[in-house]
Amino acid sequence: MSSALSRFIFIVSLAFIFAYIALLNWGAKIAIASGIAILALPLVYSYINLARLYKYVQRDAVEVMPLPSGFWEEVFFRLQRLVRNLKQKISVAEQQHARFIEALQASPNGILMLDDQDQIEWCNGIAERFFGLLYKRDALQRVNFLIRRPEFIQYLTKRQFEEPLLLERIGPSSNLSLMLQAFPFGDQRHLLLVQDVTDLQKADAMRRDFVANVSHEMRTPITVLMGFLETMQSLSLDKTQQHQYFEMMMSQAQRMKSLVEDLLTLANLEANTLPAPMQVIHIPTLLALIKNDAEALSQGGHLLTFETSATSNLLGEDREILSAFSNLVSNAIRYTPDAGQVSVKWSINSEGQGEFSVTDTGPGIASEHLSRLTERFYRVDRSRSRDTGGTGLGLAIVKHIANRHQAQLVVESVTGKGSTFTLRFPKERISE
Ligand code: ADP
Repeated sequence: MSSALSRFIFIVSLAFIFAYIALLNWGAKIAIASGIAILALPLVYSYINLARLYKYVQRDAVEVMPLPSGFWEEVFFRLQRLVRNLKQKISVAEQQHARFIEALQASPNGILMLDDQDQIEWCNGIAERFFGLLYKRDALQRVNFLIRRPEFIQYLTKRQFEEPLLLERIGPSSNLSLMLQAFPFGDQRHLLLVQDVTDLQKADAMRRDFVANVSHEMRTPITVLMGFLETMQSLSLDKTQQHQYFEMMMSQAQRMKSLVEDLLTLANLEANTLPAPMQVIHIPTLLALIKNDAEALSQGGHLLTFETSATSNLLGEDREILSAFSNLVSNAIRYTPDAGQVSVKWSINSEGQGEFSVTDTGPGIASEHLSRLTERFYRVDRSRSRDTGGTGLGLAIVKHIANRHQAQLVVESVTGKGSTFTLRFPKERISE
């Protein structure tokens, strides 16, 4: 028998016993009154406890719950346990929810949750940044009112979400390329995932440009070569003319060879991301080699000076350093008109860094070109570069070699006066 029922039987029996005793001693009226009074006792007790319970639920403080005795004690105890368990569950759920939101916020991709009306239910900070949204302001707004690009509106309307959509020149500064795709979930809801593909798009464009540039650079000498071959085939030329033609063909073939060699050098440098080894490079020997080549290239046209103000040597990869130094010297000679000056210098600066600098009195380079000089095939003066046998890859190679040696390429130039190209090596790469 449950304790509630046994208590009920006990109270009823007690009421009967008292009523019976009262009936024997004081008559029927008193008997009925005392029976009712005894039956009403538990009601009063319950009312008092109900009042306490009401006070408790108004307070929202589980710890200070009153604990009466008897039947109500159990009611209070169970209620207290229920409330505590519920609070615990809510707190765990809240923590999980907060962690989940944190994880979504940490995502490098933009995330938007759309309801069945395409209204924004939630979005992370990255999505806010991509589209200039503000979750607090834009929650429950239709996403196509906020992202107004026609391609996007069409994508949402068509509801063919199997393919992603590329949005170019978007974002607050219109400089982003975003790849976005909607994924259905739940009840007609959609998760919009947005990836920043700006760098990928740039790399893709660069690759396309590169292929176009290489094809263009190759096509020119091939076309010229074929022209010469056709002429030689169709015309009967004397020995001197033939010799001239062969010379010109040789120079075009040489141009293609230089291009292929530079391309291979660049490819090797790009494939090798490790720092250059620390071989001791004897600077005087290296400069003597470069001087010989420079004199052959200049053919007495320039005043060349070579100076080493330091006895320290360089730690690096000798073939790469020779290639970088030669490139700078050959550029200075090729771009400086005859009678100009080219000064080559190796020194150690006040911070112990090694500096290889080449100064010329050539045409100089306007400041707007300086930041782009090391791009592949970038030329300030296209015709001069070609005339002098330039491939447009020289400074790109120098830049890669500098990177592998943790060196800096610094270009200072004044148009009409000349330029100084300096390779600055960290002191860790200098050997006494
Ligand atoms: P290129 O094979 O055309 O010389 P580089 O990569 O070596 O290619 O140089 C890029 C461009 O920088 C050149 O086309 C030229 O316009 C400019 N340049 C490089 N060195 C000099 C210099 N010493 N004086 C003037 N312009 C230079």
